[in-house]
Amino acid sequence: MLCLVSDFKLNVSKIAVIMRILLVEDDLPLAQGLQISLRHEGFVVDHVSCGKGALAALSYPDHDMAILDLGLPDIDGLKVLEQVRNKKLSLPIIILTARDTIDEKVQGLDLGADDYLVKPFELSELIARLRVIERRLGTANSAIIKIKQVQMDTAAHKVKLDQQDITLSKKEYMVLKTLMENAGRIQSREQIESRLYEWGEEIASNAVEVHISNLRKKLPEQFIQTIRGVGYTVNV
Ligand code: CA
Repeated sequence: MLCLVSDFKLNVSKIAVIMRILLVEDDLPLAQGLQISLRHEGFVVDHVSCGKGALAALSYPDHDMAILDLGLPDIDGLKVLEQVRNKKLSLPIIILTARDTIDEKVQGLDLGADDYLVKPFELSELIARLRVIERRLGTANSAIIKIKQVQMDTAAHKVKLDQQDITLSKKEYMVLKTLMENAGRIQSREQIESRLYEWGEEIASNAVEVHISNLRKKLPEQFIQTIRGVGYTVNV
């Protein structure tokens, strides 16, 4: 069975600030395209094209995260995920799947995937999710999150719109930070509220709606989108 392991060199010393990704994908044109694009974004990407290759590669602690296709030629991606988690490896894993069924997504998340993307997906969406993981791991090169005309400096706690500083209350800032850090993903009202509770204050039942409404007056129209009955999102 063909099992390509390209550009995979063990014992390459890891450069602390650069996130090293293992890409597990048997669709070679897709894999090569992703490698080029992700390298262009500043990630280090190693590629394997089968489950056995993935398990071999992940038996070394060289990667900060993995992008895992579910439809692999030898071992089902979900099985790979299960084996990785059984070994108690905590590395973040984003699942790529052509199988657009709720069951498999749920199964993947139950098995410990951090996120999933359904093929075909937008590259910008994958990159946004990688950035979320990068920030979580603390390997981000910069504290700056830039989405469209809005730029947030999470170190200085400042937000700019079209290069101009805008003034936000502490809570508005927290709400916006939650949305921008999770760009491309929907945040429920409860998720946003839980970030506000970190400040240890009483929250009015409509607090999130009020902050979102105030933020919208200061940000471009449609920057924060309401997903009816689910929550809010900022798209990249
Ligand atoms: Ca596949």
